[in-house]
Amino acid sequence: MILHKSAIERLCMRHVELSAFSTYGIGGKANYLAMPETSEDLADLLQDCKLRGMPWYIFGMGSNILFPDEPEHDLVFISLKNLVDLRVTNGKWHVSSGTPMSLLSLMGLMGRHDLLDFTFLLPGCLGAGIYMNAKYNHRQICDILDTVYYIDTMEPGLHIQSVAVSDCQFAYKQSIFQQHPWIVVGADLNIPVSSEEQVLSTAQLLKDWKSRGSHPSSLPSFFSFFLGEVHALAGQGIPTPQSMLDIIKYRTSKRHFDYPSCGSVFKNNYNYGVAVGALVDQLNIKGTEYGGAIISPHHGNMILNQNQAKASDIRYLMNLISESIDRQFGFVPEPEIVLV
Ligand SMILES: Cc1cc2nc3c(=O)[nH]c(=O)nc-3n(C[C@H](O)[C@H](O)[C@H](O)COP(=O)(O)OP(=O)(O)OC[C@H]3O[C@@H](n4cnc5c(N)ncnc54)[C@H](O)[C@@H]3O)c2cc1C
Repeated sequence: MILHKSAIERLCMRHVELSAFSTYGIGGKANYLAMPETSEDLADLLQDCKLRGMPWYIFGMGSNILFPDEPEHDLVFISLKNLVDLRVTNGKWHVSSGTPMSLLSLMGLMGRHDLLDFTFLLPGCLGAGIYMNAKYNHRQICDILDTVYYIDTMEPGLHIQSVAVSDCQFAYKQSIFQQHPWIVVGADLNIPVSSEEQVLSTAQLLKDWKSRGSHPSSLPSFFSFFLGEVHALAGQGIPTPQSMLDIIKYRTSKRHFDYPSCGSVFKNNYNYGVAVGALVDQLNIKGTEYGGAIISPHHGNMILNQNQAKASDIRYLMNLISESIDRQFGFVPEPEIVLV
């Protein structure tokens, strides 16, 4: 008799340090962690979790989440960063949710347009970028979407469904996906397909990204991969545009890739009108340390893991910033990072 393994047995790694799966380098041991490569495997996994009554947590590259020091015993962590596929269907780019957003900027470069430049060096996967409506300056991920594909985890069949970008309720760091138990599995882009050569080169780039056997969520390795690729393209006669050079300058000047972090900790309050980083500057608390964590001396809205910080150290400094802003400026900033 052949005994078939359940999806959890087949796809989950056991007793995995979550710290390797977040750019914060923080997180205790998870009992179950899976990185499905297809939406079928993802659906099987969810079905199995439902059957056994085990909760799950979906994430991507872990560049916007703070994992707990002691994860719940039966929580199944599911990263979609290996759900990577990029193809042209009916004349449109179809991109799976694990595709790094930064890769899209190189796709644009190879298509000789600037529509995707803003995604250059933006950490994280497209699925989370859609969930968070990630942005850089005035451009947001919703600007480049046509249709989003998702699984409604309440629907018994876990079939893939689609929603037009106009119905996704995108706003500053908001989307409909934050309001429902929906998992983004991919999207069609509203970006022109320039040439067959662009399609082939982008597919090759994704292959190279996939085959990189490095630390799964290391910011220095993320930075060096995309910087290396942009230099390689320059060597092939595709010069790096000024917009991307500016991004390199901005992110390196703010030391984005020097220490483990999850980028900005709080959302800006546009009603108040001054960025959280600038408010922290005025409070004179940049450089404050607690445990292994520090409020970045270079960017007031970033808390860095400078020396084996715990999630509790980051939370302590978040509270400090939040309470200081409330006391001085009269509002409580909303966290941008997701506290698991
Ligand atoms: C140095 C640094 C700089 C940054 N700069 C910026 C910036 O300029 N602009 C900006 O917007 N962000 C910035 N970020 C934050 C981060 O890049 C984005 O929030 C990004 O979208 C997170 O992608 P991820 O794959 O790492 O998501 P994760 O951190 O893995 O997940 C984030 C959230 O999305 C949910 N999620 C993940 N995948 C899915 C899915 N497929 N379906 C449904 N929900 C999902 C998770 O449950 C979680 O709640 C920065 C981060 C770092 C470390």
